[in-house]
Amino acid sequence: MRKQIAAANWKMNLTIQQAETLVSDLLSASFDLNQEREVVFAVPFPYLVSIQNIIAGKEHVSVAAQNCYNKLSGAYTGEVSAEMLKSIGVPYVIIGHSERREYFNETNAVLAEKVSICFEYGLKPIFCCGEALSIREAGTQNSHVENQLKESLFHLTEEHLTGFVIAYEPIWAIGTGKTATSEQAQEMHAHIRKVLATQYSEALANSISILYGGSVKAANAKEIFGQPDVDGGLVGGSSLIATEFSVIINSLK
Ligand code: PEP
Repeated sequence: MRKQIAAANWKMNLTIQQAETLVSDLLSASFDLNQEREVVFAVPFPYLVSIQNIIAGKEHVSVAAQNCYNKLSGAYTGEVSAEMLKSIGVPYVIIGHSERREYFNETNAVLAEKVSICFEYGLKPIFCCGEALSIREAGTQNSHVENQLKESLFHLTEEHLTGFVIAYEPIWAIGTGKTATSEQAQEMHAHIRKVLATQYSEALANSISILYGGSVKAANAKEIFGQPDVDGGLVGGSSLIATEFSVIINSLK
């Protein structure tokens, strides 16, 4: 079975005290985690080490960075490199979140550089893709997402892509309370898998976890995660509330 993942994206929220309390509260509950059911906390850069310390010894729970820079090192004041993340033992990094694409002008080409650097340093990207409302209304979401994958991932080989995670996040559903229906999620996830199978192989397509993101909450997680091509979720708002996120974790297949 592919890995089922509940990934929390805290974005720019919480003080360190609130963050530590949230993770401690969550970890006091018992979850049925194993090689194929993981929890990931994508936390702000300054909290990575302290959250790693709190989860130390908890199997199948890890941290992610929310971004890294598209250059190896050098005079880029304020940026954080993949090598720095690797050096503190961070396994995952979110690449290409729609907020980064929109507010920080991250293009498909820039994201292509980032995923290459992640591969170089052995970091696993959680690569985000998804369409704006206007694209969904025009009915061109499949080709839009396909193009995002093509321009940012297809320079990589099958070996490079092994271990990558993809998050399909329709922009119109992020932070809006408007969730894609489970049918809409399944349809796009199946499309992404088909695109990967055509470009690479069925084996690779079937091995990649594809998460859904966009207003996932306790009340809808089970239904969305229950779709055959949905392998868990990337969760923003609801991951900041321990009682909500624990139900979401328990909704993994
Ligand atoms: C996200 O930030 O990736 C996200 C999906 O946010 P929300 O769950 O709040 O829609």
